[in-house]
Amino acid sequence: MSQSDTIIAQTAGVSAPNYSPLPVVAERAEGVWLWDIDGRKYLDCISAYSSLNQGHRHPRIVAALVAQAARLTLTSRAVHNDQMGPFLADLCRVTHMQMALPMNTGAEAVETAIKLARRWGYRVKGVPHDRAEIVACRNNFHGRTTTLIGFSSESQYRDDFGPYAPGFSLVDFGDLEALRAALTPNTVAFLIEPIQAEAGIIMPPAGYLAAARALCREHGVLFILDEIQTGFGRTGAMFAHEHDPGAEPDVLVVGKALGGGVYPISAVLASRALLTLFQPGDHGSTFGGNPLAAAVGRAALAVLVDENLAARAAELGEHLLAAARDLGSVCIADIRGRGLLIGIEIRQSHGSARQYCEELARRGVLAKDTHEQVIRLAPPLVATRAELDWLVAQLRAVLR
Ligand SMILES: *Cc1c(COP(=O)(O)O)cnc(C)c1O
Repeated sequence: MSQSDTIIAQTAGVSAPNYSPLPVVAERAEGVWLWDIDGRKYLDCISAYSSLNQGHRHPRIVAALVAQAARLTLTSRAVHNDQMGPFLADLCRVTHMQMALPMNTGAEAVETAIKLARRWGYRVKGVPHDRAEIVACRNNFHGRTTTLIGFSSESQYRDDFGPYAPGFSLVDFGDLEALRAALTPNTVAFLIEPIQAEAGIIMPPAGYLAAARALCREHGVLFILDEIQTGFGRTGAMFAHEHDPGAEPDVLVVGKALGGGVYPISAVLASRALLTLFQPGDHGSTFGGNPLAAAVGRAALAVLVDENLAARAAELGEHLLAAARDLGSVCIADIRGRGLLIGIEIRQSHGSARQYCEELARRGVLAKDTHEQVIRLAPPLVATRAELDWLVAQLRAVLR
């Protein structure tokens, strides 16, 4: 038995089997590369679902983590700390928002946005008590809490986890008329991902996000964008909505790469008028906004800006998309994406995406299947053109 097999067997005995990981036991990583405990090397095209935009263990981010760990790590919000204010100021600058509310995981930040929208509905819009409705999209992924899975359309995410929270309805992603029909006087928000990544890199029709936002404006409904996976340069702009002028959100939800690949950090951003609807004691989190997170988040943002990673993702993404299309493989039903968030859809008749991901892993590429038929490619944005060309060579071999 290899060392990897031993660890995998041990893990299977003690870990709840709520994941089915590739048979790779990671031991260390740097930049775009990851090594397993048997010394094999992989190009990481999973990037912890887009949490590693800055690459593994970026020296500046790790230095910020270590320096802050040596000074102050946790206070709770019962006292101020000297890191959170500067961090949120940087985050507001990057997102063009007025205020931020820091949390830890993506799901918590989406929950926070839901609470904010409901409170706004009751206190500002005048929706009758406990009648607020939120419209979301079919095939959404916003996280795994009981409330969030209650309005998932994916049976695996929701079956036998009910009863589900009321107050949510679903429309097809990309269908403006369905959204118009779903809005009622009690609708407080429309919650949407600018690209449905977990659903298989589903792109919105051109102009849809801006039109949806305009419709929300017209009906006095908050436009909430979940950019947890698409944010921070991944799609070739700092945020995916920037590709669609007029799609600026009222409420922006971020996470994943905000933590620079070393720490869980999420946040909800909005106007001062909205976020001051939360008053002391109304909402909180023991770890949200802690100084270690704030120091790391600040460094993570600085790296994105200073290294121009959004522009890099745009350029590399175009190159990778073109090269993938050039493969001309009969296995491929469709290739789509933006920046370095790319989905390769495998024809049903040519097997499942999982088989191809396993074959890619044997060739030293980590990629994850999503929704049976789609291979998601999301390498760190610090990848080089040569590294992506090597990736294309592996794809060519596997999709031959
Ligand atoms: C990952 C993700 C979430 C949930 O984030 P967690 O940190 O896993 O709770 C929510 N929305 C989107 C779009 C995501 O990709």
